[in-house]
Amino acid sequence: MERGHSLEYYETLGDKLHANCVEVNGPLHSKCLIWTRVITSSGYGQVRWGGNRILVHRASWEIHNGPIPEGMCVLHSCDNPPCCNVDHLFLGTQGDNMTDMVMKGRHEYPGMPGEDHPNATLTERQVLEIKWLLANSSVPTTRIAGRYNATKHAVYDIKYGRSWVHVTETIKPEPVKAAMDRRF
Ligand SMILES: [Zn+2]
Repeated sequence: MERGHSLEYYETLGDKLHANCVEVNGPLHSKCLIWTRVITSSGYGQVRWGGNRILVHRASWEIHNGPIPEGMCVLHSCDNPPCCNVDHLFLGTQGDNMTDMVMKGRHEYPGMPGEDHPNATLTERQVLEIKWLLANSSVPTTRIAGRYNATKHAVYDIKYGRSWVHVTETIKPEPVKAAMDRRF
């Protein structure tokens, strides 16, 4: 996206976004603002502006905060790609973005919920991390399952001591936790 937008960009585009979004209940306390027009294959809202196609969530962040710093991505705390509620958007690096995408299961198996992931084999390292998340976070089981391409039943089995009983330690999954802290 080009730097230093015009005043018109911030004002008129802001009106355009507002006029074409609907409020829906999402996973956060405040409602998601969902773009009702063109949605990209990645699930993001897209708006035409000055001959360019702009991603709506990026435009929304810029309208409220100014140009996106070089090399940064705008990520969703609500896990809702077409949402442009600025309260649900935060800046992250490309690395954060990949972590975010993998955690949401949109990278290798786009659109497939955790329980349908074909790869349900966990490594001990992953189990150590899952045990940490179960003990120290409020991340939903389905989200944890999605992060590790596991079935939600596999995570429940770990949670209730029906599998991996010999693994008694936990390991804090650093990069993922950073993203989750912003989400929950
Ligand atoms: Zn949202």
